[in-house]
Amino acid sequence: MEDVMKKLCGIYARVSTERQAEIKDGSLDTQISRLKNYITYRNTHVKDDEKWVVSDIYREEGRSGKDTHRPELQRLLSDVASGKINTVICTKLDRITRSIIDFDNLTKTFKKYHIEFISLEENFDTTTPIGEAMLEISLVFAKLERQTTSKRTKDKMQWRAEQGLWNGGQILGYDLVDKKLIVNHKEAQTVKLMFEKYIELGSVLQVVEWLNKHGYRTKEYVSRRKGIKRGGNRFFNAYVSQKLTSRVYIGEVTHNDNMHKGQHKPIIDKKLWNEANRLLKLHAPLRKNPKRETKYIFVLQGLVKCGKCGNYMTSKYSTGRNGLHPYYQCTRNAHGGKDACDMKYVPAAEFEKAILEKIKDMCEDKKRLQEIVKKANRSTESALRSLKQDRKIQENKLKPIANSIKHILDALSKGIKNKSVSEKLSELELQKDQIEKDIQNIDFEMSRVKQQILNAKVMHESLTRFRQIYETATPLKLKELLPSFVEKITWKPTQIEIALFDQEVQRGQLENGNVTTKGGGALPLVKWLRLSDEVRSYFKGSFEIKP
Ligand SMILES: [Zn+2]
Repeated sequence: MEDVMKKLCGIYARVSTERQAEIKDGSLDTQISRLKNYITYRNTHVKDDEKWVVSDIYREEGRSGKDTHRPELQRLLSDVASGKINTVICTKLDRITRSIIDFDNLTKTFKKYHIEFISLEENFDTTTPIGEAMLEISLVFAKLERQTTSKRTKDKMQWRAEQGLWNGGQILGYDLVDKKLIVNHKEAQTVKLMFEKYIELGSVLQVVEWLNKHGYRTKEYVSRRKGIKRGGNRFFNAYVSQKLTSRVYIGEVTHNDNMHKGQHKPIIDKKLWNEANRLLKLHAPLRKNPKRETKYIFVLQGLVKCGKCGNYMTSKYSTGRNGLHPYYQCTRNAHGGKDACDMKYVPAAEFEKAILEKIKDMCEDKKRLQEIVKKANRSTESALRSLKQDRKIQENKLKPIANSIKHILDALSKGIKNKSVSEKLSELELQKDQIEKDIQNIDFEMSRVKQQILNAKVMHESLTRFRQIYETATPLKLKELLPSFVEKITWKPTQIEIALFDQEVQRGQLENGNVTTKGGGALPLVKWLRLSDEVRSYFKGSFEIKP
């Protein structure tokens, strides 16, 4: 078991250019020595059998962080997979990667192999709960940002469709000029034939055969990006079916099932189009009942605990007259029945709504949010002050030692050689080394303390942004984000409790405890109580630093 506990560290350092390697501050050696010192510093805080060891050092020289095609990073990843290292440590996130997507992928790999990841600068130390929460929050925000970008593209497509502009690519019958459809008269003839032949023959397959036999071919064009000739092939079933049902030929643009009048000229008469599509519907094979089972997303999954037995509440469905009813049920009750735990079910949708609304309120309570930051500041300010004093003391010690060393070196350079002098010199240099290390440790301690203020601010920011997230994020996103700041939710017969990380527990009184899923019964009104005496701090003591 001892081996399992041991942190086998892989130190990763990277410089992108050879010139950068020469710069003192960013050099590989500086990065590595800082990381080694950090490990030594951490080791002063753990038991002997939990000491961190350096398993390997990965020196990446002259490589950029824009992708993961880097020999040393690949070596690190294979060591991660083989179990040679279980902790990855770097000075700054951008040493490992500059790409959010790569970072996301790397994080997934690390998670898969239970790798702990530490970045000194950003304090992503997943060996601590707050470091992990911060990492999660930043990843979710990164994803939300990516979604916003794709939403912008969607908005643009929507706008284009409303203007009657084409969003698609090349299509038979038209030429694409400046993203606009211009009638290609030769091809328009082929399209017209396609419709007429279908009405005449009544079969897509026969139309395909007729077109191919008479030498007609699919649209031919030169690809814009590569300049290669494309298309000009024999027709096939799906191609023709798609063309026959396309409303673009009657001068319309469709987007998200909405029709808009197009800016382009129609090439098929509406009467002809309608007749062809009437026939198509008539001939279409009967599809099996497309009963689409929309899966309900239990956004509170893994967060709700049974207030009677303390077990988790699992998510389930029941079938009623009005379809599926999702609900949460105590796992003990689900497996062992009433005798194991007689907790009642709670309907999911109503329960989730009550909880999410309350969390939103909690996140909008400015006074409470200010308290978080204030609390962090209060305890850290005094700690910082005393650390600064310590640093000053060490610096003052350093000056005379450095002076003495300089004097001895001067004397030695003038040819004065003496055994006791060189002994004195090495002793002084040892002292100097020790003091410098002490100063570095104080710096680590200071950045840790400062990080607490920052963490509180990030927490504050993400809570403040919860309303925005709540309103725009999909249930799936919401489900992903909630565990970052909701510690647990407890469901009791007459009461609900919500515990956010590092905040007091909120209790809501239910007017009526008899809640069942029968007929999708709604949750009775919840009255939220103010209970300020009981403060539940998840990060117990993380803000208490001994002076
Ligand atoms: Zn229970």
